[in-house]
Amino acid sequence: MLIDAYGRVIDYLRISLTQRCNFRCQYCMPESGVELGKHENMLSHEEMFEFVKICIDNGIKKVRISGGEPLVRKGAEDFIAMIFAYAPHIDLAMTTNGYFLKSKAQALKNAGLKRLNISLDTLSNEKFRQIARRDGLKEVLEGIEAAKSEGLGIKLNTVAIKGFNDDEFEALMSFAAANNAQIRFIEYMENKHANPELKSMRADEILSKIATFKNFKEITKSPQSPSRLFACDDGYIFGLINPHQCDFCTTCNRIRLSSEGLLIPCLYFDEGKSILAAMKKGDLASAKQILADVLANKPEKNRWQENQISERGFYQTGG
Ligand code: SAM
Ligand code: SF4
Repeated sequence: MLIDAYGRVIDYLRISLTQRCNFRCQYCMPESGVELGKHENMLSHEEMFEFVKICIDNGIKKVRISGGEPLVRKGAEDFIAMIFAYAPHIDLAMTTNGYFLKSKAQALKNAGLKRLNISLDTLSNEKFRQIARRDGLKEVLEGIEAAKSEGLGIKLNTVAIKGFNDDEFEALMSFAAANNAQIRFIEYMENKHANPELKSMRADEILSKIATFKNFKEITKSPQSPSRLFACDDGYIFGLINPHQCDFCTTCNRIRLSSEGLLIPCLYFDEGKSILAAMKKGDLASAKQILADVLANKPEKNRWQENQISERGFYQTGG
């Protein structure tokens, strides 16, 4: 079993398959000047898989694939199939912008993927182009349809931005409900790669906005989930992720592996240790030791409490 210095059981591994992305969302990546790691400095799927096996053998029960955009990496579905073949009991999920799902949903399902979190900040073509700095709403909506047809579980992730999509919460929620998907509103988290002009909305502002069109009450959530849950009068349940309040650190069960082999103990924390050299040499004993060291140093709390803004972008760590 993997246990950190605060007695938290770590059973959830998040893997960033790549820093690359076909979008340039204003809250995540700059328009230009994105420094992408060199191919030789990345873990291959086989090297990642060797490390995933160590993690699974030591108690990891859930693996989420993210990025950058995981589906821009060739063979993402083959990587998932490797994990599924090794441990069919693992809860295998992916976070994606949805753009490539129309062509990939079936392969992902066949590979053993169970669930998808799909990012959707707006239902307007114009606003989509504005926030993602690329066209793509049509493809994302088609991707959601494809994932639904494959029977993949779907949640929608919406970053709440004042003056941008706060007038669309009702439409986004209706869209999610119509697609049998839980929507989770996410507080925009300031970071050095984002457009500094974006205006965040705190949890109370998001909830006040939703209260203008829905009656809801907070319900008990799973202790490990970062998402608070709210049940509407009509039975629909939506989520809210508010890291600024940091009430999920005490039960955090996660560790993160980036595409360049950094093992990172917390999304809002820059320090990590590299397993790249160990995995390139096939030195599994060293990789295991690095895992133990990172767990021993997993911080008690994320750094939002100290008002520190992370140097690493979400696209680098895997949001
Ligand atoms: N490309 C995929 C996607 O967009 O879903 C996966 C990677 S993305 C970094 C993972 C999640 O992080 C997305 O839901 C995205 O909306 C969220 N995210 C990125 N930057 C964020 C920020 N500054 N604040 C809050 N959420 C952010
Ligand atoms: Fe790409 Fe996802 Fe970041 Fe948007 S949030 S730029 S889709 S990695």
